[in-house]
Amino acid sequence: MSDIFNNELFEAFASASDNVYIYVCDMKTDISRWSKASVDYFGLSGEYLENAANVWAEHIHPEDLNVYMEDITGVFSGKKKHHNCQYRARNRMGEYVWVECKGSVIRDAEGTPIIFAGLMTRIDGQSKYDTLTGLLTTPELYHFDFSDLSGTALLLGLDGFRKVVGNYGYNTADEILVEFSRRVKKLCDPEWKVFRFSGDEFLVVAFGADKERVEDYYRHLCQETDIIELKNQQKVGLSVSAGGVRFPEDADSREILINKLEHSLEHAKNTKKGTLVFFSKKIAEKQERALALREDLKQCIKNDYQGFELYFQPFVTPGSRVITGCECLLRWKGNRIKDSYPMEFIKVLEDYGDIRDVGFWVMEQAIRQQVEWRDTYGELWVSFNVSYQQFLDETFEDRLAACAEKYKVDPEHIIIELTESSQVGNPEELSAMFERLRNRGFKMALDDFGTAYASLEMLKSLHVDFIKIEHSFVRELSKPGHDIDYVIIDNLLAMCQRLGYDSIVEGVETGEVADIVGNMNVTLLQGYYFSKPVCREDFEKLLDMSKKQAQQKT
Ligand code: C2E
Ligand code: CA
Repeated sequence: MSDIFNNELFEAFASASDNVYIYVCDMKTDISRWSKASVDYFGLSGEYLENAANVWAEHIHPEDLNVYMEDITGVFSGKKKHHNCQYRARNRMGEYVWVECKGSVIRDAEGTPIIFAGLMTRIDGQSKYDTLTGLLTTPELYHFDFSDLSGTALLLGLDGFRKVVGNYGYNTADEILVEFSRRVKKLCDPEWKVFRFSGDEFLVVAFGADKERVEDYYRHLCQETDIIELKNQQKVGLSVSAGGVRFPEDADSREILINKLEHSLEHAKNTKKGTLVFFSKKIAEKQERALALREDLKQCIKNDYQGFELYFQPFVTPGSRVITGCECLLRWKGNRIKDSYPMEFIKVLEDYGDIRDVGFWVMEQAIRQQVEWRDTYGELWVSFNVSYQQFLDETFEDRLAACAEKYKVDPEHIIIELTESSQVGNPEELSAMFERLRNRGFKMALDDFGTAYASLEMLKSLHVDFIKIEHSFVRELSKPGHDIDYVIIDNLLAMCQRLGYDSIVEGVETGEVADIVGNMNVTLLQGYYFSKPVCREDFEKLLDMSKKQAQQKT
């Protein structure tokens, strides 16, 4: 028996740790010795094995076998210097556990391989490694002192992964994450570290790499993960956004590094999905403004919604152009920030969960206003916007019912607009809620209809009363070359009518567009041509005028 097996060094390494298993193979005889701990843990037939590669291959998870074989063949053929890969291996109990397997080939003077030796580390079940992907977990980041090290860090995020989970289910989503993380790791240089940052976010710390090297890595990764083929041969397309930060130049501590990476990734996701964005002065300014906005908003909410106000934009009937209602749109002027537009501050409210309270405030103002106008102007349709996140609030339905009861409003004249329907994760649950609200008499509307494929999906699962057709089809309708928009709107409106839904066309900016759309099958029109959203006093002036015109006509 070869003396490479019988030496004190083997014994010393073999007993070093319960989670580390060592093996040495005499490549001339193809006999190997495995440490006693590995024999016990993996249920091998004994410490000495003949043709161990085949014996061991039977312990490897079938899905990981290719990864293992590719790596080991590369080492034996001399293409790769070291064996280094992670895979799942079956233990004595028949359970698969993640292991990290590292090894090297020793060659004689002629270059013929004589010894293959290495070690296997069990990485499953320890907080150090993520159980699904085998990557390092984020607490491991605390072992690095970023003020002393240099390189570039990348935070990778899968775009729209929630939708992937919704479409394919959790098991397939897990399979995608495993495949993706494998490619993330495979393309790294050996000294880089990869962490599973959160569900669908991965952190790559590229030690010693400059911006160009990391850009190159990202490009390569996008090519390799563009389409991922699953076990069942199904192909899934992935898009990866990324934030990048150089250290120590732009971040000399872990906290700063993570904070800047998160903001850079968010910027990439918000501005141009599927790109790599490096931290910049512009992102720093945006981050500062978002923080100031948040503080200012919080303060105003605390001060009984001081600075918040509703503006009203009329709904008019297509023929007589009489105002029959309005959409309530939120406005806000902070103590410090006076120039924030709705898309900006509403996003901050949503990101921090404050839209819930502000949304209830909007609901109450809108309902109170409808009732206040009743005596002077009759029953007006009053609509307000509610995001999916707000519908998820368990108290939403009860608070709406209590508010309607408090002001004695007729729910038939309250329209609730679902904004950003593309974010809906659970259409069945939402559909049940819509049904309950409709049973209470409220009118439900699908906002911005036509913006995404999701609109049609939503239409299939949600029963609504109104459909609001998105601006973009309407705005340029009267200009030459927009015949296609005409065909789209005309057909969308015909579809609404066939489904028995009322319709509101938004974004009517000119008299010409008002005439064109007014001649189609539309219930109500809305847009700057009739009026921009205005404060209560100005809206009441519009109502007075409209009332007068209607009286003159009769
Ligand atoms: P939205 O629901 O699609 O509201 C219509 C937006 O289009 C309003 O912008 C309105 O000012 C604008 N608009 C109306 N007519 C025209 C037109 O003819 N041309 C053009 N170019 N624009 C027109 P606004 O007020 O800035 O609101 C933006 C978005 O903010 C709203 O889009 C809605 O999604 C959201 N939002 C507003 N108020 C609330 C609220 O109380 N709660 C929630 N969750 N979201 C709200
Ligand atoms: Ca709306």
